[in-house]
Amino acid sequence: MLILVVNCGSSSVKYDLLDAEKESSLCRGAVTRIGEEASELIYEVNGKGKIEKKVVCADHHQAIEIVRDALTDPEGGVLSDVNEVVGVGHRVVHGGEEFSASTLIDADVIKSIEKFSELAPLHNPPSLEGIKGCMESFKDAPQVAVFDTAFHHSMEEHVFHYGIPYEYYKKYGIRKYGFHGTSHRYVSGKAAELLFRPLEELNLITVHLGNGCSMAAVSGGKSIDTSMGFTPLEGLLMGTRCGDIDPAVVTFLVHREGLSVDEVNDLLNKKSGLLGLSGVSNDMRDILKAIDEGNEKARLAYNVFMYRIKKYIGAYAAVLGKVDAVVFTAGIGENEPRIKDDMEEELRPFLGGGTEFLTISTNEELLIAKDAREIITEKINK
Ligand code: AMP
Repeated sequence: MLILVVNCGSSSVKYDLLDAEKESSLCRGAVTRIGEEASELIYEVNGKGKIEKKVVCADHHQAIEIVRDALTDPEGGVLSDVNEVVGVGHRVVHGGEEFSASTLIDADVIKSIEKFSELAPLHNPPSLEGIKGCMESFKDAPQVAVFDTAFHHSMEEHVFHYGIPYEYYKKYGIRKYGFHGTSHRYVSGKAAELLFRPLEELNLITVHLGNGCSMAAVSGGKSIDTSMGFTPLEGLLMGTRCGDIDPAVVTFLVHREGLSVDEVNDLLNKKSGLLGLSGVSNDMRDILKAIDEGNEKARLAYNVFMYRIKKYIGAYAAVLGKVDAVVFTAGIGENEPRIKDDMEEELRPFLGGGTEFLTISTNEELLIAKDAREIITEKINK
């Protein structure tokens, strides 16, 4: 069963065509610089090299047409007919409090995704465009939404509430939602496979360290706490995001630096984290290189990054009671063994010998394709 997985960002559409049974990718690529003068289509057909083309692409809707045409192109495409795509799985960032699992998209689901655009203004609107585009370009294929927030739906009330007047929860839905749910769910399942134990029996701490960083405490396959919050800004130090901070810093900067609220928001999301502290880069590879060259601020940024992870592992160990494994994943987590090794060395005396430290490659696209296959198969069999 061929499933197209679509991930719409603010100016890009990433896609991956997967065989959901064989769990393999046939072709993956991206339309980037959407809305700019020269947009680009980059894709890679399994086993063949990368192809890059300049394209004209005004919006996400048009980007989907470009993807469809590339997939069915008689020369470089992998499909002879668009109907070979049996279903489309969409990564949607925010499903609010409504979605605890992936779901078949209908008019009501579209309305809900629209409603939650207020909570994810940079992410949900492009996803909606992508969904609407796919409903036209792949009109016979059922569309499935897979939410970043859904896995954390299992958090209890006392975990997700902030200590602000209750009315703002009721009025605007201000609470912790958590993100990267598909990645935390995927590596949790993989950890169970690697440990040859049922997921239902395991207590895991999953550590997703990519451009964005987040952690989850996972008990019996359910997320019971996670470090990102109302937005992805909370929690760990990230490439350019500050993570946990005293909210009074915001008001202080507004008053003392004369910054607007939007400017402070920009500062905390795009100019902070590893980049802001080190002044070197948001990329961990550059930070590690600078440390080796004796750069003190890069060392400080690394130490802050590591300390936060350690602190959250300690907190989640207290919450879980026992920890069967700490799992590292995503760009930094998968590629930089120093992080896992340093953390293991520091935490081994605290966690004891029973805790495994694992590195597992995340594969959100595959989980989205598998969810879509399951939901579509159920629909067909009804
Ligand atoms: P992701 O968001 O999962 O794609 O992760 C992207 C981040 O992974 C980049 O910003 C890099 O900081 C980091 N990264 C990728 N490769 C390496 C590597 N070999 N060593 C350390 N960090 C890496």
